[in-house]
Amino acid sequence: MEVSFSKEIEQLTLGEGEVFHGEGILAITKALLQSGVSYIGGYQGAPVSHLLDVMVQAKELVAGLGVHVEACSNEASAAAMLGASIHYPVRGAVTWKSIVGTNVAADALANLASPGVTGGVLMVIGEDYGEGASVVQERTHAYAMKSTLLLLDPRPELQTMVDLVGHAFAMSEASNMPAMMELRIRACHVRGSFTCKDNRRPVISALSPMAEPGSFDYGRLAHPPSTFRHEKLKVDERLPAARRYIVEHGLNELHEGRHADVGIIVQGGIAPALLRALQQFGLADAFGNSDLPLLVLNVTYPLVPEQVAAFAQGKRAVLVVEEGSPEYIEHEIGSHLRRHDLQTALHGKDMLPATGELTAEAIMKALLGFVSRYLPQQNVQPVASLLAATDARRQQAASRLDAALPARPPGFCIGCPERPVFSAIKLAQQDIGPVHVAADIGCHSFATFEPFSLGHSILGYGMSLASRAGVSPVMQRRVLSIMGDGGFWHNGLLTGVQSALFNGDDAVLLIFKNGYTSATGTQDIISTPGKGTKQQATDKLASLTASDRTIENTLAGLGVQWLRTVHSYRVAAMRDVIREAMTTPFAGLKVIIAEGECQLERQRRVRPWLASLLAKGERVLRVKYGVDDDVCNGDHACMRLSGCPTLTLKDNPDPLKVDPVATVIDGCVGCGLCGENAHAATLCPSFYRVEVVQNPRWHERLADQLRRLALRLVQPA
Ligand code: SF4
Ligand code: SF4
Repeated sequence: MEVSFSKEIEQLTLGEGEVFHGEGILAITKALLQSGVSYIGGYQGAPVSHLLDVMVQAKELVAGLGVHVEACSNEASAAAMLGASIHYPVRGAVTWKSIVGTNVAADALANLASPGVTGGVLMVIGEDYGEGASVVQERTHAYAMKSTLLLLDPRPELQTMVDLVGHAFAMSEASNMPAMMELRIRACHVRGSFTCKDNRRPVISALSPMAEPGSFDYGRLAHPPSTFRHEKLKVDERLPAARRYIVEHGLNELHEGRHADVGIIVQGGIAPALLRALQQFGLADAFGNSDLPLLVLNVTYPLVPEQVAAFAQGKRAVLVVEEGSPEYIEHEIGSHLRRHDLQTALHGKDMLPATGELTAEAIMKALLGFVSRYLPQQNVQPVASLLAATDARRQQAASRLDAALPARPPGFCIGCPERPVFSAIKLAQQDIGPVHVAADIGCHSFATFEPFSLGHSILGYGMSLASRAGVSPVMQRRVLSIMGDGGFWHNGLLTGVQSALFNGDDAVLLIFKNGYTSATGTQDIISTPGKGTKQQATDKLASLTASDRTIENTLAGLGVQWLRTVHSYRVAAMRDVIREAMTTPFAGLKVIIAEGECQLERQRRVRPWLASLLAKGERVLRVKYGVDDDVCNGDHACMRLSGCPTLTLKDNPDPLKVDPVATVIDGCVGCGLCGENAHAATLCPSFYRVEVVQNPRWHERLADQLRRLALRLVQPA
């Protein structure tokens, strides 16, 4: 990874009394060091990638504290790492993106939660839900309930979040329950400040290791008959201990309000949106003071039945503001009210949207019904008018458009090495016919959008080859499975390759070997070449990935017999290899490695290097592509085969032609795909290649002058 987090790392060194300024996720990272963790692990994924990225680069700092940092191969290995805290009084933290990461980790989590932990355990979970989310929309809450895990949902204010990290470890130790802290996208990126404490060196650590292992204790194994006792312990001892901790330390916030006969129970992470909505009704101020009593649940599992009942006691109605579906918290609160024989009316999803992010606007709509019904003296007209005006503005904007606005889906970066491969797949399909494409998680899933629209299913990270196992036998043509190198190491090697080989499947797998887990932030993987090779690759502007054969060697070692490596940008060669894989009489697993370094990461390395050459007055050559207006016939076949953002349209300069012509705008990184596509698909010859030379040598200047002179002679102005 070429991005440097040196500024962030500086923030991690702040000591007692100093003030941290920055993002929520970095504050959590600092809080881990203040809590005396012995080990930190995880698997990258938005919105929590930053935690692990910073930790991996902060090696010197964390090593000084004796903290071990592990970039795990997937979330299951991260969850399994927490097993250290079952026997030993060591605190550990891991991080991943949920819900998908929690799904991957589920087995280890259940086996961790059953015996319970001695040292405090905290999983920092990126709750990738709502606007901007990139995964299936489900709730992590279900895992907390089923495996008996603590679930914290802190109010997104930095001091609160940091304090709750400390409490999460302590509560985990008090209850023997592993803790999860869910952080929504906005909570990770909220900015603020908090007063730091010194980083804490753990008692047991890499600097002061234990002399002997713990004694054998069958009761700490998630194995029968211990598991039967564990189930009982969870209910009889751990949950009550957690509830005691929550009450004794006031983790859930109780705010009184002048309208004492109604109240709102809200997840901590949603509290700011609720307060903003209440503010519109004149029921809260800008500083978070509410006229309605609030119970802010910074711990959403377990709930404390007595706390809920005490809050509801004497109130005519309580509204539960809970995001997503099913409404687990509301259901549980309903049970507690019944068990306490309270007649308080309970509202929640009857007023709030069942699905989607709870924005201030969505909460305002729900509050309109709640406030009108229970506080009829409150003038809700301004809010009703505001909501109506917003709706009207939306409708008005929509009606003014001649047609729906074009979708702006995410796409490959300019010059991405994966784009040419999808061009090649399109071309191959011209010959072999349409094929079922088992897609995967990663940048390559952008090919499910226009202009490629390739991909019939996505079953999880690294699961494409496994997901075609049921399709292949019932399909006349072979199925094409696509996977990135990130997905290959995360899961695909075992779930897909091993299974296909073991079963002797007639399958085709295409692996993008771009050198990183690009979609999660270009983190390094086991097949990422080292720094020296990267520097070499820059100097020669050669392909980085070619120097590493880890994937090829692994596949060969496992017994893959049909293996081809093709440079991603060689469209015609790639088309031919895909065609061969899909039609060869060889009936086993066929693997194509598409080799080409992630362009984003490459540019991060190449640009500063080129800038340094220019600064020294040295010669720099850049390649760019262009389209000759006179030759372009305006059929735009090149765009349907590329989708590069810098290959676009402009008005036809010929007054006799109406179709816009193709053009290459600034930003082209000269990846060569335009030329490759024109050649492989036998497109019109309108593309040209330009070499831009900065700081040219004397003979280049002379050649240029001669050429200009010749042009003037044959083409006078
Ligand atoms: S990050 Fe890399 S692999 Fe992903 S789209 Fe951009 S260039 Fe392609
Ligand atoms: S050569 Fe073509 S595909 Fe490559 S960056 Fe330039 S315009 Fe885009």
